Amino acid sequence: MSQYWSQLVHSLTPYVPGEQPKVDNLIKLNTNENPYPPSPKVLEAISEQNNEKLRLYPDPNSDILKQSIADYHNLNPNQIFVGNGSDEVLAHAFQGLLKQDAPLLFPDITYSFYPVYCGLYGIEYNNVPLNNDFEIDITEYEQKCGGIIFPNPNAPTGRLLALDKVKALLEMHPNRVVLVDEAYIDFGGQSAISLVNDYPNLLVTQTLSKSRSLAGIRVGFAVGQAHLIEALERVKNSFNSYPIDRLALFGATASFADEDYFQACCQKIINTREALTSAMTEMDFKVIPSAANFIFAKHPEQDAEKIALALRERKIIVRYFNKPRIDQYLRITIGTDAENDALIAALQEIT
Ligand code: PMP
Repeated sequence: MSQYWSQLVHSLTPYVPGEQPKVDNLIKLNTNENPYPPSPKVLEAISEQNNEKLRLYPDPNSDILKQSIADYHNLNPNQIFVGNGSDEVLAHAFQGLLKQDAPLLFPDITYSFYPVYCGLYGIEYNNVPLNNDFEIDITEYEQKCGGIIFPNPNAPTGRLLALDKVKALLEMHPNRVVLVDEAYIDFGGQSAISLVNDYPNLLVTQTLSKSRSLAGIRVGFAVGQAHLIEALERVKNSFNSYPIDRLALFGATASFADEDYFQACCQKIINTREALTSAMTEMDFKVIPSAANFIFAKHPEQDAEKIALALRERKIIVRYFNKPRIDQYLRITIGTDAENDALIAALQEIT
């Protein structure tokens, strides 16, 4: 390998995805998937894509999906950008909107993809510390920057930033893009999509992987004023990124047509999260208040890795952290009630 390529390749810090085990009888609480199936309407819509239709390329513009997301949020389709998972949408935002003449700001601790994208696209960044309760302190963002990105609720902490504070950030940096990554917003937060028409510098991303149970078809989207969406379309077309495929397009569109199912599913997860929070608090865990479909918690004495390994022996997979500031924390995805009962019983045995 030539020296240039060798240096380049070794300077990258590839993202390590969460484990996707090949065996079936595990309780998988490590990558924040939804424990419930998608709406039956999704499968119906996918089944309608028969052989005759599969022969054809999908719509390169994903128009029916843009229209249904726009209708859902009372916006115009030219305010919606669609991609293969929100990770791809975020990649285009990093490539086209967040690379500026000053460092990009994001919290320390946050979604581990952000520094990976910065490395890949040559974007300078500053990590902004959270306060001691893992909350975003907006006063720390009063510094020269090329843009701001943060998940709301944050990952892996589950902490929510109130909408008035999101507004304050948008007003603090009116000439910079503020990207609110709302992968987990449907589990108890108020979406910043309601602010899009008032703030030309706001871009919100969401995914169908979590609250809509569709991690397997890879669909995410961004919402913003038309000039930001147009910029994302230009980046996408310059990189010749694939549009979402035909099955994803029709399946995703159908999921927006079953509001009752969606609401019921989110509510079940919220209720289970509250039950798990109480049970773990009773077992002396410190549990960070979560607005997401996972909780972030630490035992006062026991090692997180040991707890995770002991759970694994009982066929339950969770994540643990041993990085500075989040050392000894476990991140546990909310499962079904039956999975939650098994988890609580196992934790009672272990701790
Ligand atoms: N943002 C955050 C904060 C996430 O945790 C995830 C999921 N790992 C994503 C974005 C990406 O989700 P997807 O690509 O499945 O839409």
